[in-house]
Amino acid sequence: MTQPKWIPEPSEASKPFFEGIKEGKLKLQVCSNCKTWHYPVVRVCSHCGSNDIEWHDTKGRGVVYSHSRLQRVMHPRHEDRLPLVVAQIDIDEGLRLFTNLVGSDPKLIKSGDPVELDFEELPDGDLLPVFRLSNQ
Ligand SMILES: [Zn+2]
Repeated sequence: MTQPKWIPEPSEASKPFFEGIKEGKLKLQVCSNCKTWHYPVVRVCSHCGSNDIEWHDTKGRGVVYSHSRLQRVMHPRHEDRLPLVVAQIDIDEGLRLFTNLVGSDPKLIKSGDPVELDFEELPDGDLLPVFRLSNQ
């Protein structure tokens, strides 16, 4: 079976996000007017209505808000990656991201644990931004 492409083709609006990944960074949007961070991609700030939106590097740090363990293959991309920890991470910039938490026994992960950005190399060579516990 042909593997599906792992990372979607970037749109013009999301291109900086995907270029950041290639640089080893998690870049997200910030409103230049009110400094609110945004994800997913926006064209207009949902806080103040400004369309002056810029891309900035995040610190790549946060804490676990919640997590769950995926143990069954629900999509071809899950093959060889189970158990997969799907987590909500509160990053320092004030956003909650859905992501994967890698490198830890899922039983040892707790809400509030500090995490840092990492990248998982996918079978087709693309990089996926993920997080791992800071103390491991
Ligand atoms: Zn704003």
